Amino acid sequence: MALIRAVRGMKDILPPESERWQWVETTAREVFRLYGYRELRLPLLERTELFARSIGTDTDIVAKEMYTFIDRHGDSVTLRPEATAQVVRAFLENRLEKGAGVKKYFLMGPMFRYERPQKGRYRQFYQINCEALGSDAPELDAEVILMLWEILGRLKLSNLRLLVNSLGCPECQEDFKAKLKLFLFSREGWCPDCLRRREVNPLRVLDCKSQTCRELLKTAPVLKDSLCEACSRHYSRVLTLLEQFGIDFEEQPRLVRGLDYYTRTAFEVTAAALGAQDAVAGGGRYNGLIRELGGPDLPGFGFAIGEDRLLEVLPEAEGRSADQSVFLAALGRSALERCLTLVQELRGAGLAAEMDFDGRSLKAQMSLADRLGARWVAILGDRELAAGEIVVRDMKSGSQESIRIMELKSALKNLAAAEEGN
Ligand code: AMP
Repeated sequence: MALIRAVRGMKDILPPESERWQWVETTAREVFRLYGYRELRLPLLERTELFARSIGTDTDIVAKEMYTFIDRHGDSVTLRPEATAQVVRAFLENRLEKGAGVKKYFLMGPMFRYERPQKGRYRQFYQINCEALGSDAPELDAEVILMLWEILGRLKLSNLRLLVNSLGCPECQEDFKAKLKLFLFSREGWCPDCLRRREVNPLRVLDCKSQTCRELLKTAPVLKDSLCEACSRHYSRVLTLLEQFGIDFEEQPRLVRGLDYYTRTAFEVTAAALGAQDAVAGGGRYNGLIRELGGPDLPGFGFAIGEDRLLEVLPEAEGRSADQSVFLAALGRSALERCLTLVQELRGAGLAAEMDFDGRSLKAQMSLADRLGARWVAILGDRELAAGEIVVRDMKSGSQESIRIMELKSALKNLAAAEEGN
């Protein structure tokens, strides 16, 4: 029978690669803890209107990339294409806005977009998200970017570029849209999507992926020239703080990000090694979003790291777990009985331990241990059992010695600790 394959654009993450993913997530969790961010675990499915209302109906995501379907009750639901809207939904639904201070959350998990699959672009992909709700202070913008930088630094990522822009407030955007519209109508050659967008949502033309549109946009007006005084001040304070903390950034006057809700600071982190899909992370401020979704007029700031892409640029050596596992090779029935207890004792002492239940030959068990990547093999036969001894073999050096069974646990723990210290 023909094998059933995974859905196009969706991939399996297998060991040992999955261990690198865990390492990335553990590293991010540790940094989030230091900055006071706490985890949200939210559903993968949301009501479709949540995304339509927040991301914007003319964005690529809402117009053509959502996995939307009618459930058995007749409701339109959508697999989340991004996290910010649902974080705000959960924030409001659970009344988390109560009390003073910035509310800080992080979230990790899959997002879904029906895009054309290619390297770095999947239909199910993973994000690490961070959202800070309740302050418009430019210090928050800078701190969140600093935190992102800390995560990327701990992951030993290099050759990254931080691109920053300010999208201003709705008033600045009105002014800018008017100027942009004039420009868009004064040029010919836009793609059919942009011909429509220049009427209804001109900002979206700025993130068009078509090469001709990108070329035409090179002489378009820039947002910075439309910023009001307050937005200008906010923006320069963010830049000053980034400089103060030694973060290299580049101003990117045409950066708008593909979602409608951004205001003021917007940024992206790119990695040249990624090629065409080079953004590893992106984010910014969304001051009108909470109100737009029916809540109070609270500002917000956040980012999303694209975990799939991050792993593609993660140095090969990073995040590989040092293998310190033990394999117990039992020869004969009574040795197997003794090993059943021993393997549990080793696990109880924090050592990863495995054994074979199928009565394989010593040779077969040794090659199994090798395949499993065991660091040490403890061999127990009838003769050793009678003498109260067990043979410990170092799989790296090939040397082996006989020790008391009673001492196996402490001996292995010492070996593991000694290696860890190296
Ligand atoms: P966005 O939510 O569009 O701002 O994207 C944030 C980050 O998610 C991007 O910088 C990418 O790293 C990642 N990302 C977005 N779309 C995809 C996709 N289809 N496949 C893989 N990663 C993606």
